[in-house]
Amino acid sequence: MSPPFRILALSGGIGGAKLALGLDRVLPPGALSVLANTGDDFVHLGLHVSPDVDTLLYTLAGLDDPVKGWGRREETWTFMAALKALGGEDWFLLGDGDLATHVERSRLLAQGLTLSEITERFRARLGIASAILPMSDDPVRTRVKTREEGWLDFQPYFVGRRCEPAVEALDFAGAAEARMAPAVAAALADPALAAIVLCPSNPYLSIDPILAVPGIRAALARRRVPVVAVSPIIAGQAVKGPTAKMMRELGLEPGAATVAAHYAGLVDILVVDEADAGVAVPEGMAVHAAPTLMRSLDDRTALARVVLALAGRPA
Ligand code: GDP
Repeated sequence: MSPPFRILALSGGIGGAKLALGLDRVLPPGALSVLANTGDDFVHLGLHVSPDVDTLLYTLAGLDDPVKGWGRREETWTFMAALKALGGEDWFLLGDGDLATHVERSRLLAQGLTLSEITERFRARLGIASAILPMSDDPVRTRVKTREEGWLDFQPYFVGRRCEPAVEALDFAGAAEARMAPAVAAALADPALAAIVLCPSNPYLSIDPILAVPGIRAALARRRVPVVAVSPIIAGQAVKGPTAKMMRELGLEPGAATVAAHYAGLVDILVVDEADAGVAVPEGMAVHAAPTLMRSLDDRTALARVVLALAGRPA
């Protein structure tokens, strides 16, 4: 039996997956679809790596590593050590279990399956109830223009250079020609769609690439359902990663108000941390303060319940 209503959540990797896990746990099985960023995807060692999709797969399957905060738990590193010994590229870490994901994905892509079909296959194999929908099956590649080093591809910037160069501009190469994946189009048109959630992901690196795929932003706006976002910035700081640093580099004040302004015209309700209660938001946007730092699974489910209650679908 299909769930009586559906929630569509836009997510990047680690921050977004935290709330996606909370939503997955409190909603009826199958009610959640997670629309995932693929702008971070790249081909490495001949393998198609899809970092945000994989973070969502591992997190929702309970395979994620809560200690490292990325990758798979109980991971081993034989491949990496052997590669390094041979003088191979070792700047991007691939654990042995993680490697299996990229090898199998690449094999299936070579057979002609789409990224969406492969993700759906992995979802089913890993026993995940929620759908994980790559935004597009066409290549979209995030690139950053840095002051010091010019244009860098995303992973060389993010992992290779640890986000150190100052960012001046961003580009989502291929986005203008990309088609939203068929499953995304279906999710956006689903009459059972009850609410849209923007997870606390990096607005510039994780949510904007999704919105850059032609038709997605317009389809989100056309649906007359509540759109609730959670700020990834708490008291002027990112919980993890370069979001606040990037805001400064782009000449913006790091804070929840900047997140609110960025989502003007798209988001109906912004959930900010209690530390940011009273933050200014654009006209037409409501703001709700709640604890948004997700350390435990209870924190994740509690925030998911707040978001769903605000969207008029209490769980
Ligand atoms: P990435 O693709 O792996 O970089 O992950 P995302 O873009 O999905 O998430 C990165 C953002 O998540 C950063 O801006 C963090 O500040 C934010 N974040 C991480 N953990 C939390 C949390 O517990 N609460 C909130 N509100 N934001 C978080």
